[in-house]
Amino acid sequence: MNQYVLVLNCGSSSIKFAIIDVASGDALLQGLAENLGNQSSQLRYTHAQQKAQGALSAAANHQDALNAIVDVLQQFPELNQALVAVGHRVVHGGETFTHSTLINAEVKQAIQKTAHMAPLHNPANLAGIESAQAAFPNLPHVAVFDTAFFQTMPKHAYLYALPYDLYTKHGIRRYGFHGSSHYFVAHQAAHLLHKDIHQCNLITAHLGNGCSIAAIKAGRAVDTSLGFTPLEGLVMGTRCGDIDPSLPSFLIDQLGYTSQQVTDLLNKQSGLLGISELSNDCRALEEEQAKGNRHAKLALDMFVYRLVKYIGAYLAVVGPLDALVFTGGIGENSAYIRSQTLIQLSHLGFEIDKLRNQQMRFGRSGLISVATSHPVYAIATNEEWVIAQDALQYTNKT
Ligand code: ADP
Repeated sequence: MNQYVLVLNCGSSSIKFAIIDVASGDALLQGLAENLGNQSSQLRYTHAQQKAQGALSAAANHQDALNAIVDVLQQFPELNQALVAVGHRVVHGGETFTHSTLINAEVKQAIQKTAHMAPLHNPANLAGIESAQAAFPNLPHVAVFDTAFFQTMPKHAYLYALPYDLYTKHGIRRYGFHGSSHYFVAHQAAHLLHKDIHQCNLITAHLGNGCSIAAIKAGRAVDTSLGFTPLEGLVMGTRCGDIDPSLPSFLIDQLGYTSQQVTDLLNKQSGLLGISELSNDCRALEEEQAKGNRHAKLALDMFVYRLVKYIGAYLAVVGPLDALVFTGGIGENSAYIRSQTLIQLSHLGFEIDKLRNQQMRFGRSGLISVATSHPVYAIATNEEWVIAQDALQYTNKT
């Protein structure tokens, strides 16, 4: 019997949705309701490679959008009837959630309690859960947390060297994000290596608009580059990653920025965009660099350099390495970023297979290194499949 899960990713003004076949991970239908709350709200979806629009009124809210998604699903009874659960991506689970969980009133309260740590995400996730429960009252709803995979990090890795009571009183520590993606590609790598995940030491690099890297020792996450918020670590599309912690107060005290301006600067105007002064889009920067644009080159050089530094650090942390994995839009598709990274790591036992590296794009997964190198894989991530599998598993646990 087919078992399908509706996977929802609710943002403040958008809802991404997909019907996932739990057995294969295939998205049988996927879509996006966007610009919610303003006049241009719309709902688009793809089914069997056919693109279509759903009926959505102007200035629709989350509840309107979920009702419209219910209407779309009515057109596909073969999908609708096989739905067994709804899986919700929830960005921040704090220290409360070390794994996914069936949603009840207590769970919603706990998500609410974490909202101050992810003010852009958790309230929207929660609004989505409430609306989806109203729209799909007969299905179990399961929350899958971006932070959960990293709850295995040891204290010496997740604490900041700040006064300890900031941690105990306010939960100030590193949490890590992109957990479902790192979990998925780590398991795929173990499969490709023909090894039990608990015997694998891996470094997984999720490189998309947001970027993070994880150190995985014996199958458990022991460190990751994103911290209290998704700003720390690697150079990202518009986020700065690591900077001197004194810079925000310098910007405020000496240059007259407001705290909100600093937040925007670090999150929305930095990274590849800030350095290149052109774009946050890696592919566009590769094209500009090829035409001789030096800012584009500098941005890409910085992106690679920071990545190389983290890989070096995590090599020291994980012990004998089984594999390095690239994933996310850049990790899966940019032969340039992968090859530049591995060239700089050649003295540490990495060597790229040029042909395989060129071939590994557009959803293909496989080895991109030569036989004498540490194994390096490009693996297409599938966070929705992780959410669907967990939704089924935690539904059955009751
Ligand atoms: P998000 O984090 O928003 O999910 P993605 O994982 O889709 O983002 O990654 C988006 C990034 O992937 C962009 O920087 C884009 O330029 C890059 N990307 C996608 N395809 C390619 C490609 N063929 N070559 C280089 N970069 C690519």
